[in-house]
Amino acid sequence: MTAHINSKEQVEAILDKYDYFLFDCDGVLWLGDHLLPWVVETLDLLKQRGKSIVFVTNNSTKSRNDYLKKFAKLGIDGIKKQEVFGSSYASANYIDKILKLPKEQKIWVLGEQGIEQELSELGYKTIGGSDPAYNIQFDENHPDLNQLDDSVGAVIAGLTTNVNYLKLSITLQYLLKNNKSLPFIATNIDSTFPMKGKLMIGAGSIIETVSFASGRQPDAICGKPNQSMMDSIKADNPPLQQSPARGLMIGDRLNTDMRFGLEGGLDTLLVLTGIESLQSIEQSNIKPTYYANKLGDFYQLTK
Ligand code: PLP
Ligand code: CA
Repeated sequence: MTAHINSKEQVEAILDKYDYFLFDCDGVLWLGDHLLPWVVETLDLLKQRGKSIVFVTNNSTKSRNDYLKKFAKLGIDGIKKQEVFGSSYASANYIDKILKLPKEQKIWVLGEQGIEQELSELGYKTIGGSDPAYNIQFDENHPDLNQLDDSVGAVIAGLTTNVNYLKLSITLQYLLKNNKSLPFIATNIDSTFPMKGKLMIGAGSIIETVSFASGRQPDAICGKPNQSMMDSIKADNPPLQQSPARGLMIGDRLNTDMRFGLEGGLDTLLVLTGIESLQSIEQSNIKPTYYANKLGDFYQLTK
């Protein structure tokens, strides 16, 4: 049974039980550009109690540097780059550390600057992505459709709000190239994400399009719930590696955040400020350890 966190005693018990607090971002800390109530105070409380904090986001449109700017803008101070794990960083890392793609090879990006910046930090060049040259009306004679770049060694697909038929079609050509042999990396497969009270098309829904067309599933999905993201968090945080049960994953989505924590051996806390509701917990076979109406209850209940 998922326990409802609604008393000071429960919060104190959680503060005793866990050393590591992993946070999903959107739906937990903020909704879009709006900070949720008592979030700064809750993070301060955890820091005062000596807790380690890690932020884990599936939003691939931003790089870790973009996230540092966003934290600062929302008044969440003192966050370090090594505390932030995004699906754009996880995807770039996958290309570098797992695929060991030579730096002379380029990556075709169906996505935005977050992916490009993380790849560039690792020394890779990209094509496609945010290049405005591709924000144009479809033309069957477009040179990229007819002459693929032979130096492209992998495809990364994530969310772009500038998706168009040309970009999808070029992505398809790279996925089919050389007998479908170029690695196909998905940043994350969230079907939707919330924006201003509405659900928007997420990376997973765009990836599904090129996946269906090419008859290929991604070779790797780098965001939550993929454990390669958890493995890199653990590699950077040896105490969590040794005792995952001393970690709590806090998120707003069952099939990404809660699964991510559960499969990584952490306990899980679902907050109801984002995607899920009490009803969706009841209907799901993924059962979080705890749920709370909002993250800020942690601070409020200790007062
Ligand atoms: N993908 C995109 C494009 C988003 O904008 C968001 C949230 O804003 C997400 C994914 C989900 O991010 P998170 O994992 O922080 O909830
Ligand atoms: Ca979320």
